[in-house]
Amino acid sequence: MEEKKTCPACGGALEYDSRCPLGSRELDLYLCPDCGRAELYEPEEERIRRRNEERETQDFFQSLRARLAAGEITAELFPCPTCGFPRRDRVCPVCGSVMDLGTMEELCPGDPEKM
Ligand SMILES: [Zn+2]
Ligand SMILES: [Zn+2]
Repeated sequence: MEEKKTCPACGGALEYDSRCPLGSRELDLYLCPDCGRAELYEPEEERIRRRNEERETQDFFQSLRARLAAGEITAELFPCPTCGFPRRDRVCPVCGSVMDLGTMEELCPGDPEKM
């Protein structure tokens, strides 16, 4: 959705002019037909992409915190008792060993064959 852009000088409506390469990025140039003011904006799609990225990062940390609170993962990495892989999950992603993260006891040894 294209937002209306207002000229900061005269309050008129800015009109899209062109996309300008500026260093390593591209910006949209808007011109005010009334007073000739030029304004640069980050392209809409770039803004959406950046917002989605921020949201994904937030979601990632949120789910990490939730799993931490639920006792599914530990805050610190620990070496897997079966395979030695540094893990923080209840279930080792390498050998499948299952740990009680409360007592740090191995409930079910992993399968070294899977390594
Ligand atoms: Zn203007
Ligand atoms: Zn393991």
